[in-house]
Amino acid sequence: MTGQEQAYIQKALDDNWVSYAGPYVDKFETELAERTDAAYAVATNSGTSAIHLALIAAGVTPGTEVIMPNLSFVAPANAVRYCGAHPIVVDVSSDEWQIDVDKLNYFLEEHCERKTTGLWNKDTKRQIGALLPVHLLGGMADVDELAKTSTKYDLPLVEDAAECLGASYKGRAIGAPSRHISNERRFVCTSFNGNKVITTGGGGAVLMNDSDLSRKVRHLATTAKSTRIEFEHDCLGFNYRMTNIAAAMGLAQLEALNSYVQKKRKIASVYTDALSATTFIGVHPEPKECRSSFWLYSCSVGPRSREIIDRLITRGIQVRPLWGQIDTMPHLGAEQCGVACDVAEMLYRNVISLPSSVDLTTEEQDRVLDEFTGIINSGMLE
Ligand SMILES: *Cc1c(COP(=O)(O)O)cnc(C)c1O
Repeated sequence: MTGQEQAYIQKALDDNWVSYAGPYVDKFETELAERTDAAYAVATNSGTSAIHLALIAAGVTPGTEVIMPNLSFVAPANAVRYCGAHPIVVDVSSDEWQIDVDKLNYFLEEHCERKTTGLWNKDTKRQIGALLPVHLLGGMADVDELAKTSTKYDLPLVEDAAECLGASYKGRAIGAPSRHISNERRFVCTSFNGNKVITTGGGGAVLMNDSDLSRKVRHLATTAKSTRIEFEHDCLGFNYRMTNIAAAMGLAQLEALNSYVQKKRKIASVYTDALSATTFIGVHPEPKECRSSFWLYSCSVGPRSREIIDRLITRGIQVRPLWGQIDTMPHLGAEQCGVACDVAEMLYRNVISLPSSVDLTTEEQDRVLDEFTGIINSGMLE
């Protein structure tokens, strides 16, 4: 917390604007759009609901397929399933740890065919509904390349930017338009869950650069109520808006966004400096066109990662593995894209995430590094 949260939340309570509308929601949306270089922001009650709304607004319908990386937190795959659609998983790249655009393009070219109705997966005989790249661990996938691919195959682009708020791509923030895709076809979703770069307790947002599209997303998020007074609803809507209390907190947090990212980048550089001398450790990469937020610093330690995690946790250091791969969870019904996801599997086995919170002190980080290098130097990794 920065200090301002309490004052803003108190103001929301005093004014009796506590629920799904109010001045802080409007202010938060305006300020968020500005800081992310987007024209419009619609605040929601979670990052997952932001992705769900974007997929529906993008036209994803039951029985279609949505392409996403196999290495990801489960939320975007869940959102695909909420639409009645199926995740198709693509590998990530070994140098940047982001969705592998070459493998994606190979899949679209070799395993899909164009028909008058759209793009169809030849293997599963289902239509492709959207591309859903997930920007991982504070870094960003190559947005322009993804935008070119989306445009080439006429697929809407829904980016999961839950982890990279505060990052930038080619010098511009996550919501900035790409000249390689029409604004009507692109959504950038983010999250303000407690573990993200900034938090509203729980919350999310869809960032867009097209006014009709932002109206559509807002409409879907507010039960699709079509008249101001009468309770008339013109399509299936959702109760997905952010509350004024959450937005009050978010406004205070946004004021700290730059300093939080600075702090996280500092934490990352201390880890990288200390660990890069060790040849068998792969430090957290920063994609070449991206200034990462380093939301969660992660490094590759090899196949004995789980033993290292156990040892560090026993020593009171909170470390974590990466997410289990999407196609290993049967309830998600994910299909492989016809190209093996070897890198995702390797990263899942080998990578651990280290403490990266903005309130991590220098002394605490030194202790993490002492314990960690102690284990490394004990020879267990060689
Ligand atoms: C946290 C996260 C989400 C979901 O956000 P919630 O606000 O928790 O619903 C979605 N995608 C990714 C990659 C995340 O890390």
